Amino acid sequence: MMEKGYAVGGRYRIIREIGEGGMSIVYLAHDLILDRDVAVKVLKYDLQNNPETTRRFEREAMAISELSHPNIVSIYDVGNDHGMQYLVMEYVDGTNLKEYLRNNFPLPLERIQQIMEQILSAVAQAHSLGIIHRDLKPLNILIDQEGNTKISDFGIAMALNDEGMTQTNSVMGTVHYLSPEQARGAQATKQSDIYSLGIILFELLTGSVPFVGETPVSVAIKHSRNDLPSVRQKDPSIPQSFENIITRATAKDPNDRYESVEAMLEDVGTALDADRINEPKLVINHEDVEATRLISSHPTDELNDKDLLKMPEGGILPNEDQPKDVKKRKKLSPHQKIMAISGGIIVGVVLLLLCLLLINHKKEITMPDVTNLSEKQAVELLKSKKLKISPKVEKLSDSKISAGNVIRTEPPVNSKVKEGTIVRLFVSTGAPTYKLADFTSQSYTEAKDVLERHGIKVKVKREYSDTIREGIVMDQSIRPNRRITKGTTVTLTVSKGQKEITMIDLTGYSRKSITDFANDHNLTKVEDPAQYSGDYEKGTVMAQSPAAGSKLKKGDIFHVTFSLGARPQDNSESKSEKSSDIPSNSSSESSSKVTNSSNNNSNNGSNSSSNTNSNTSANNDVSFSENIIIPYQDNSSDDTTAANSNPAQNDVKIYLQDSHHKISDLYMEIKIKKDTQVTLPFTIGKGQKGLYHVVSDGKMIINQSVTAPENN
Ligand code: ADP
Ligand code: MG
Repeated sequence: MMEKGYAVGGRYRIIREIGEGGMSIVYLAHDLILDRDVAVKVLKYDLQNNPETTRRFEREAMAISELSHPNIVSIYDVGNDHGMQYLVMEYVDGTNLKEYLRNNFPLPLERIQQIMEQILSAVAQAHSLGIIHRDLKPLNILIDQEGNTKISDFGIAMALNDEGMTQTNSVMGTVHYLSPEQARGAQATKQSDIYSLGIILFELLTGSVPFVGETPVSVAIKHSRNDLPSVRQKDPSIPQSFENIITRATAKDPNDRYESVEAMLEDVGTALDADRINEPKLVINHEDVEATRLISSHPTDELNDKDLLKMPEGGILPNEDQPKDVKKRKKLSPHQKIMAISGGIIVGVVLLLLCLLLINHKKEITMPDVTNLSEKQAVELLKSKKLKISPKVEKLSDSKISAGNVIRTEPPVNSKVKEGTIVRLFVSTGAPTYKLADFTSQSYTEAKDVLERHGIKVKVKREYSDTIREGIVMDQSIRPNRRITKGTTVTLTVSKGQKEITMIDLTGYSRKSITDFANDHNLTKVEDPAQYSGDYEKGTVMAQSPAAGSKLKKGDIFHVTFSLGARPQDNSESKSEKSSDIPSNSSSESSSKVTNSSNNNSNNGSNSSSNTNSNTSANNDVSFSENIIIPYQDNSSDDTTAANSNPAQNDVKIYLQDSHHKISDLYMEIKIKKDTQVTLPFTIGKGQKGLYHVVSDGKMIINQSVTAPENN
């Protein structure tokens, strides 16, 4: 009926069903507030909407909660969950007496005596408080692991009787222990409980109940008319004292039974004494019964077949509405009168105290401030103010209040509340935490944005990387998936891209120095055609590109022009020397003119762009340079290109044709890993054409003719 895991009243988490009685189902549950196992008893569904049942369920439970006895199951709480009445009690880890007896019969006499003493002392206490059990039977007596008995189902039997016993099974169980007067529908008294206790003793000794029958009605008739079978006839080893106790307890007329459970307890306590084992057999004097009946204002009617036919199916007549005090048919002795009067006074005082308690009960109080107290401290303080704590403690993150401490209450501090008000606690789980994502390979600006939006501080450390693009996060100071709180600082290592190399002034350096410079900085040196120069010694650099101060990256190309020394004395050539300039794409060195070379005999010109600087010499030869971009070819999946052993780079060969070069001569060879710009110098006569081929990994990718730019 109730789902495992459901928290009844928000507090008692159902673990499993442990038992079922006539009117209820009992579950093992865990009390989330007090962290202990409890038994939760819930009225069966079909009885839940019966106001009479539910009212009594609650009222009886309240009465029992006043009982405190080691042999009575303690009642902890009563409540209503979505209209469903429940009762929370001590969980007895064990079995019930019925089961226990089945597994352990025959029990030693001492053990039977011990069990009876425990049950009797418990019932005696209940009776002293005016509580009559009405349904004492082995199924309602639990036995824990230590063998202690605990009476359960206290007083609830009353509600059971009142419901007209519509459930046959429960009646079957009940009727075997039921006194004749209860079966007849008369008011249950303490003597009725004593009758049931006598039957329990009978069963403990013999292993079975005295009367069995086809129907509850036939069993009830036997209880009413037949003498109880003799236990000693079943088992002669049973002491006469025990048989006498049964005879006394189960007398047909309640007046012939023990006057009190205490008296029965006393009798049981001495039953195994040597002088009692063989005491005379007790015979109830029926004359006495008749005599008593004459003075009784409430004669004990015998149960007859006509009455039983009027019974509902279950066999029990509806009970009178309210329990009345047991009407004693014997005259009270002076001692009893004193007892009754003092009893009345005690009851009066107790009632007065209860009234006072009720008047003060709903005192108004101001909600105390429990902010920043630990949950435990807060609960203690609130309880000391007679406030109740809701089991639903809200857990929230809070950056100001440390974990486990109270953030606020509902109702809030300083509000006026009644005693017993249920207070809800909001407890901090500490500052909010985030599971840090993996930001590597993400853009720094995006990562920073995300982190800062969650209150995480971001520091940046920038490092060069040959492989990771500039602006991309390469590393983070806190590993991914770690939990961090607001305000934590995370340092992101971000790529600056490849390290930049600042070009130095290479003029005047020897070929060896230039080679060393290129190697040292992982640059590719391209020698432009050497030229005559009066200013630079032969074999030293007379011109460079790019200019000093320019930024280069690993793998970039730089051009140098070595000097051929001073030009031998020759008119035409000296003119040329004066005017010839160093091919360069450095803007400071020449007024450059940018054109787009889009010549028609281009095979594959789409990837090349040209940027042309030109100078016209006196002999009409034109010197200019073409800046071309050699596209990087991703051949990694193409194994036919055996020309390159390293698939990550392209082996590029450039051939050019002008006044100084033949197309069959290799002009330069470079290895590229990305699109690379190269400056090609041309010196061609006016109106003539130059030509260059770019071969990448053995495939011609550019076949381009060039013409000297139209100058001025
Ligand atoms: P009902 O009022 O419906 O007769 P009971 O109180 O007799 O319900 O409980 C039915 C069964 O549930 C018992 O026989 C017993 O097995 C189990 N039970 C009841 N109360 C407890 C308890 N406090 N601890 C352990 N088991 C219990
Ligand atoms: Mg029961």
